Amino acid sequence: MTDSSVRNAQKLYEGKAKIIYATDDPEILVTYFKDDATAFNAQKKGQIANKGAINCKVTTHLYGLLTEKGVETHLIETTSDREMRVKRVDIVPLEVVVRNIAAGSLCKQTGIALGTRLEESLVEFYYKNDDLGDPLLTRDRIAAMKLTSPDMLDQLTEKAQTVNAVLTEFFARCGITLVDFKLEFGTDKDGTLLLADEISPDTCRLWNAAEPDEKKRVMDKDRFRQDLGDVAAGYQAVLDRILSQMS
Ligand code: UDP
Repeated sequence: MTDSSVRNAQKLYEGKAKIIYATDDPEILVTYFKDDATAFNAQKKGQIANKGAINCKVTTHLYGLLTEKGVETHLIETTSDREMRVKRVDIVPLEVVVRNIAAGSLCKQTGIALGTRLEESLVEFYYKNDDLGDPLLTRDRIAAMKLTSPDMLDQLTEKAQTVNAVLTEFFARCGITLVDFKLEFGTDKDGTLLLADEISPDTCRLWNAAEPDEKKRVMDKDRFRQDLGDVAAGYQAVLDRILSQMS
């Protein structure tokens, strides 16, 4: 499917960074990656040149790597610069965040200094709910809200740890430190848990491992969040390093 053919398809949902279209098959959707960028629960808005195409490629490569390592994803096929055919899934209403090094909200909420390496990586669950500002949840809160079962939380934790192990090792080979990242999961029509959404510089903190300067090392969306400049260049550099490592 090309970018032009998708325009005639039925738009099911438009999010901050992607549009979801229906296809002739109810079990298959098309994801279109936009250049729009938002931060701080959409209070800050902008565009990052070519971001959609970069994130589509980055996600494609990382999903390929994860599939090889036994982590199933919703991706069927990447069909153009910005489009993927994906399996329809019921999204688990949790953002699963994995942290290796303290940054972002962890520093803000706990006082742990930016850049502190965590002895054990953290797996955290946030409620996917913009009206509530995506709050951090506990297992007991998730149970009280009946969001998902304890067994599902165990599965999510285990998969998130596997993704972390695979991506940390891969990014290290690219000369990039995987600081933290956010995953989303969904269940397909057979009830199989699949990795969904995207894994890209929008959803990961990625630092140039060889760069000690706190601002210069940032290759991800923090360049946009913190007005560090050269946002698109940071994203492109991540893709270039991934491509050179895969070839
Ligand atoms: N993240 C994301 N979407 C969100 C919230 C966080 O992709 O809605 C990613 C973010 O890019 C970072 C990680 O999850 O890689 C941890 O984010 P954090 O909780 O520190 O929140 P932030 O500082 O972005 O508010």
